[in-house]
Amino acid sequence: MSFEKFELHAKIMACVQTAGYKVPTPIQLESIPPIMEGRDVMGIAQTGTGKTAAFVLPILQRLMQGSRGYVRALIIAPTRELSEQTHNAIRQLGRRTNLRSASIYGGVNINGQINKLRRNVEIISACPGRLLDHIVRGTVDLSKVEVLVLDEADHMFDMGFLPDIRKIVKRLPAKRQTLLFSATMPEDIRLLANDLLINPVNIKIGHTVPVETVTHRFYPVQMDTKINLLKDILDKTDMDSVLVFTRTKSRAKSVALQLDKSGYKVTSLHGNLTQQKRQQSLDGFRDGRYAIMVATDIAARGIDVTRISHVINYDMPETTDAYTHRIGRTGRADKTGDAFTFVTGEDLGLAHSLKKVLGEKLEYQSVDGLTISMLIDRAPSRRNSRGNGGKPNNGRKLFSPQARANSRPKQRSFDSSNRSQWAH
Ligand code: AMP
Repeated sequence: MSFEKFELHAKIMACVQTAGYKVPTPIQLESIPPIMEGRDVMGIAQTGTGKTAAFVLPILQRLMQGSRGYVRALIIAPTRELSEQTHNAIRQLGRRTNLRSASIYGGVNINGQINKLRRNVEIISACPGRLLDHIVRGTVDLSKVEVLVLDEADHMFDMGFLPDIRKIVKRLPAKRQTLLFSATMPEDIRLLANDLLINPVNIKIGHTVPVETVTHRFYPVQMDTKINLLKDILDKTDMDSVLVFTRTKSRAKSVALQLDKSGYKVTSLHGNLTQQKRQQSLDGFRDGRYAIMVATDIAARGIDVTRISHVINYDMPETTDAYTHRIGRTGRADKTGDAFTFVTGEDLGLAHSLKKVLGEKLEYQSVDGLTISMLIDRAPSRRNSRGNGGKPNNGRKLFSPQARANSRPKQRSFDSSNRSQWAH
């Protein structure tokens, strides 16, 4: 099955080819036809499944017909990074269409956005707060919007955006097409969908469990030895690009600082940084200048860096859904990835829930005599099925030789004497 079947405009098809998309992903296969028919769609899809193109392509197709010069499609997303990413996807897939798009989010000067909106755009990719600012100032006109997309709706709910979204929706024509995408379907999103969608086509791709292409491993650890465990894993595991999650902004900053001092090529992404700094971190991580990025959930939500080989949950996420989202940063677009999660005594409740979700895919690692499997449910620890993780690093491109030389911590509590425990 190829993209030809959708009978997209030749200018859009040319961009699909340039993007290197050969066959549609399952979410694209299922959602592009009904969206092109003008139906409302509720899509439950995991991150990294190609859902951006699933709504961007039909929107571009629709906008090729009809007048230009006013806002006809509005995409609302929870974070600046996701909003920017969607804007980039529109630019990439719509390059030859001459359709204009703008990304609208806070943390940057509003005047540039006002100027951009004055020059007339057909598509807006926005975060709710700043979009409301523009509505209040009268600098955006949404009265002719034909398509509304709510992306990562569950996260908009988590972040308290639903009231803002309802205010924005009041500014839109009642007669419109509405598409809602979410990785999970909590009750509040179901209610929102009931209110906003008319006779929607329901599409569910996979279950709300982490993508199949990811291997999951739990490491038992004590809070004060996490940093040593992290360095040990970074040194001994064959990794391309690593995203490390912490629970708070200050921990993201401090973990990044500690790694930096030890000579690792690391950056951080969290809400205390200016938008410019956030973009620099993300760009540096994306183009490989930084092999490691330490981030909080909010900051890393929705980011699309295709080559992330490992996600490390330095701090356990708050919920199983949050785990799904973090892990969705790796194993994207059919690549494989590894997810390592540090589990302290406090995290055992959630570890148990995750074990149920992950089932057979979960592997346990013993560290310094600690075995998580015994703590969770006395299940025997399993051998690593992907073969490579846990082995000493063969020097693949994670660190420059100099950085590696500098990266040896002075004191190591997880030293070579423990290696047998790592190298199953
Ligand atoms: P998304 O889930 O929209 O964030 O997409 C994840 C990644 O998959 C992005 O890097 C897309 O460019 C890529 N992608 C989307 N659709 C396809 C496709 N049909 N073939 C290959 N890659 C794709």
